[in-house]
Amino acid sequence: MRDALSDPTGRESRPSAVLFDMDGTLTLPQFDFDAIRREIGLPTEPRTPILEAVERMSPADRARAEAILLRHEAAAAETSRLWDDARHVVESIRGAGVPVGLLTRNSRLSVDTVLALHGLSFDAEYTREDGPVKPAPDPVLDVCRRLSADPARAWVVGDYVFDIQSGNAAGAVTVLMLGDSDRPPWADQAGHVIRRLSELLPLLGIAAAGAAGSPGSDE
Ligand SMILES: [Mg+2]
Repeated sequence: MRDALSDPTGRESRPSAVLFDMDGTLTLPQFDFDAIRREIGLPTEPRTPILEAVERMSPADRARAEAILLRHEAAAAETSRLWDDARHVVESIRGAGVPVGLLTRNSRLSVDTVLALHGLSFDAEYTREDGPVKPAPDPVLDVCRRLSADPARAWVVGDYVFDIQSGNAAGAVTVLMLGDSDRPPWADQAGHVIRRLSELLPLLGIAAAGAAGSPGSDE
């Protein structure tokens, strides 16, 4: 019903913004969250959401856990690799005049590291320092507000259930990017399911940016 493609006039179907998760969506998945849980001392079965568990800790335990998390995030950011179509997709969307945002549960430091390393930029970014994190709707709503974008016509793209739940709670169109992972049981919560970011462009009704010689096509 909220699917932007459902409007036959094509006018209202234009996306107001496209908001990407970072880890596993723009970058190849590499975080070993269970290693982080083990080092912090959190159970890995069932898997506790790390940020929420850290928030409930005593100040001393919390400081220790945050240091562990930051160390893992810094290492992951410094060795991060983009999906090979990530830059092209982001630039194609921007080239069509649609603003792009980044929503992550990571720290600002890890976002700055990843963006600088890969020469990527976004019109707005939201990290865990900015307020409630996914699966809350706040990251989507806050970035839409900053971009003057209607959340109902915003698209949220991510590889994890929290991305999809955050987007759905904000009333956005949601896209699960599977990459090479198996389709999870919660995939039906997403409005669309894709394997590669390049599949986004036809869904959005946006043409791929120019072929050879276009900026950023040198990767
Ligand atoms: Mg992710």
